[in-house]
Amino acid sequence: MSRPLIIITGASSGIGLATARVFAREGHPLLLLARNRQAMEALGLPDAMCRSVDITDREAVLAAVHEAETALGPADAIINNAGVMLLGALARQDPAEWETMFDVNVKGVLNGIHAVLPGMIARRAGTIINVSSIAGRKTFPDHVAYCGTKFAVHAVSENLREEVSGHNVRVVTIAPGAVETALLSHTTDETIKENYGKWKEEMGGVLEAGDVAEAIWYAYRQPQNVCIREIVLAATRQQP
Ligand code: NDP
Repeated sequence: MSRPLIIITGASSGIGLATARVFAREGHPLLLLARNRQAMEALGLPDAMCRSVDITDREAVLAAVHEAETALGPADAIINNAGVMLLGALARQDPAEWETMFDVNVKGVLNGIHAVLPGMIARRAGTIINVSSIAGRKTFPDHVAYCGTKFAVHAVSENLREEVSGHNVRVVTIAPGAVETALLSHTTDETIKENYGKWKEEMGGVLEAGDVAEAIWYAYRQPQNVCIREIVLAATRQQP
C-alpha cells in the first residue's frame, strides 16, 4: 500500500533534514520546505518535492502545500520544525532578532498548521507535529525571547490538540534538549555562543539530529487512535 504525503518544514538542515531521511526510508512521499532548496535537493530523496519557501510567507506555504497535495495526495502529517535561535540578553538584543524568532518559530508554525488543518478535519485523520524545545517548558539564561517563542509553541500545540481531538486529528509536541545542528551558529552574541559551546562539551556531547528524527517517527507511526502528546528528550548528561 502506498504511503501518504508528509510535509516537513526546515528540511534543509539539522533535525528537519534528518527527519526527511527517516520518512523517506519508510517510503513516504515528501514535501520539503525551507529557503535553501539546493540543500534539500542534494539529499536526493525519492518522491521528494522540494520548494524554496520562507515559512513566514503564508501565501507561499499555502501554494506549495496545494501543489504537493494535488500531485501526491492529501498530507497525512506536517512536521512544523523550521526555527531559529538567536540567544541574547533582552536589554542589548537587536529587536529585529526577537521579531525574526517570533515570525519563524511561532507564526511559521501557525502557517504550517493553517495550510493542512481544514483538510485533516474534513478527512477525520492527520497528525500535526510541532518541534518545540525543552526551552518551551523551562527557562534558561539569555533565552528570554527564544523561550517566549517555544512556550508559545507548547501552548499552541496543547490547545490545538484539545480543539481537534474530536475530529480524530492528532497534535504532538516534540521537545528536544540540545542537539548538534547549525541552530546555535545564527546567534550573534559571541560570548553567549562560546558559553553554550562549552556547556555542550561539558556534558560530553549532545543529541544527534537523527535521535530526534527517530522520536518524531515513533510518534507518527502509532495508530491514529494513539496520540503521543509530547516527547521530551535530551542527552542523558544534560542536567537542566
Ligand atoms: P538548523 O539551523 O540546523 O535548521 C533550521 C531549519 O529551519 C533550516 O532548515 C532552515 O532552513 C529552517 N528555517 C529557518 N528560518 C526559516 C524560514 N524563515 N523559512 C523556512 N525555513 C526556515 O536547526 P535545528 O535543526 O536544530 O532546528 C530545528 C528545530 O528544532 C527548530 O525549531 C529549533 O528551535 C528546534 N530545536 C533545536 C534544538 C537544538 O539544540 N538544535 C533543541 C531544541 C529544539 P533555511 O535556512 O534553508 O530556510
